[in-house]
Amino acid sequence: MKILANDGIAPIGKTQLENAGFEVITEFVPQEELINAINNNNYVAILVRSATKVRKDIIDACPNLKLIGRGGVGMDNIDVTYAREKGLHVINTPASSSQSVAEQVMGHLFGAARELYDANRQMPVSGLSDFKGLKKKYGKGIELRGKNLGVIGFGRIGQATAKYALGCGMNILAYDPFQDQATINVEVADQTVSVNIKTTSMDNLLANADFITMHVPAPADGKAVIGDAEFSKMKKGVIIVNAARGGVIDEDALIANLNSGKVAHAALDVFTNEPTPREDLLKHAKISLTPHTGAATVEAQDRIGEELAEQIINLLS
Ligand code: NAD
Repeated sequence: MKILANDGIAPIGKTQLENAGFEVITEFVPQEELINAINNNNYVAILVRSATKVRKDIIDACPNLKLIGRGGVGMDNIDVTYAREKGLHVINTPASSSQSVAEQVMGHLFGAARELYDANRQMPVSGLSDFKGLKKKYGKGIELRGKNLGVIGFGRIGQATAKYALGCGMNILAYDPFQDQATINVEVADQTVSVNIKTTSMDNLLANADFITMHVPAPADGKAVIGDAEFSKMKKGVIIVNAARGGVIDEDALIANLNSGKVAHAALDVFTNEPTPREDLLKHAKISLTPHTGAATVEAQDRIGEELAEQIINLLS
């Protein structure tokens, strides 16, 4: 049985599948050529990450397809309900990415608090001619320790981020309409400290958070979770991170609130119009950016590959 891993698969997962008798093709097929490629090569499964879309057109046109696998969490690039109605297996690897996304969020928080991202942009340009000027410009950073981190969406990644933030001495204000509380186990050396966190109201979080990080799914109605109304309730000078999905924060409202000074910095890993994000976001002096790489670590890719392989072997062998 042949499997097309169109957005790649970690070697460990590929080997596991090959050892179980599958043939795994990792050559990328452009979206518009996928139907022909799947049918002409008799692929029984297609594995994607967030780039390749598996919509109704592909599901209808490829009757031999038995399984769609998403390496990662969000399945908004797949018509999941339709595929399952048609009898296809649709699988993902929900837990594999949490640690990596959480670490990236902490990187963005540290980078924003000390304007590391902007100092990195300016040092090659004027570090020689204006070292003292840059030293002054970037000499008003803040510390994370003792500050309030608002976590919006307190599921796997929200809790993994809270674990790191607690380890850095931050206080957690979590909002999640579907979770009342969570116990976060912070591992320090060979000890585990269990911290119980009760979720709070969105208004309390917005009013008291020094930093905010988004960990909600893409809203089904497409409506942003953070728009003008929510920005107006935040502390002046708040720093906000979005490593969830583009559109979870209204991008127009974000730019307006950065320009007014209400929001000090934003860090974005995800964008409404991927893979062609707005240029005014990309070039904004108060935004640090990564190209949707929250889960893109060697360790996460290995876990994703293994988790996909195990499920495929169980379902198709
Ligand atoms: P999860 O399902 O474990 O947690 C999401 C939480 O959000 C749930 O507890 C849910 O109750 C809560 N929630 C839903 N709607 C909400 C709302 N309006 N306000 C507050 N909370 C709400 O999911 P997860 O694994 O933690 O993933 C979270 C997000 O991260 C998803 O959008 C996912 O697509 C994204 N993600 C991004 C990357 C990346 O590369 N940047 C990688 C993996 C996942």
